[in-house]
Amino acid sequence: MPSDTSTEVMTIVSENGNDLSASQERVPVYELQGVSKSYALGGGQVHAVKELDLTIESGDAVAIVGPSGSGKTTLLQLLGGLDRPSTGSVRFEGRDMAAMGDGELSSLRLRTIGFVFQQFNLIPTLSAAQNVEVALAPAVQKAAERREMVRGLLESVGLGERGVHVPGTLSGGEQQRVAIARALANAPHVLLADEPTGNLDTATGAEILDLLMSLSGVARTVIVVTHDTGVAQRAHRIIRMQDGRLAPDLAEARTTPA
Ligand code: ADP
Ligand code: MG
Repeated sequence: MPSDTSTEVMTIVSENGNDLSASQERVPVYELQGVSKSYALGGGQVHAVKELDLTIESGDAVAIVGPSGSGKTTLLQLLGGLDRPSTGSVRFEGRDMAAMGDGELSSLRLRTIGFVFQQFNLIPTLSAAQNVEVALAPAVQKAAERREMVRGLLESVGLGERGVHVPGTLSGGEQQRVAIARALANAPHVLLADEPTGNLDTATGAEILDLLMSLSGVARTVIVVTHDTGVAQRAHRIIRMQDGRLAPDLAEARTTPA
């Protein structure tokens, strides 16, 4: 039986707004062991990712860089549960994604992982706000509550005033911000972005990288695949891919954020 004392202690902790266990402990969000991914191609096989061992900690801001064809997108799809490894295990928050059924994996994706793509992938006939709203969990039922959440999400990406506009009337950078707000709709634990600045000019791309990296924190890990050379100043950690493996020299390099 919990005593009154223990209840008091718990109250004090929550009144202070401290969740010490969550804020101070960096735990692995991803643990990859011996992960390989091969594709059948023209009677042969392409080995896109080869025997990768990798750990990524919660709250990290990670950039994955490397030449075209080095396996960056394949790795991101494995991290996102959009694809399964040919061999090896991808543990996400302690659970092996390869052992999950398709339904379990897709529900895990919906609840815990947000995706951002190079092409924005917004619905052209919907306003910015509606593009975000469709991604909200159906469990949020009250219209006023949904509107309020959408407004907060658009504000968090610096688009408070632009909610009524359809994507075609927004700049590329604004469209990517809408896509980021949509990816945040269900408070994902992990935000994955594949070449999110690939369709943007350099200055706008830098702003989007700043925004993405700033979204990492205690409760959220951000992982961005990019060619952008400015990423080194923004990420906590650079993972360099080469021919499906981690490039040996910088495999575990950590940089100090500028
Ligand atoms: P990156 O994102 O670094 O450019 P990818 O992960 O897209 O690299 O691709 C790695 C390798 O796997 C490349 O040689 C690519 O051609 C190959 N590849 C990727 N997807 C497929 C697929 N669906 N079928 C066959 N080969 C693929
Ligand atoms: Mg790619």
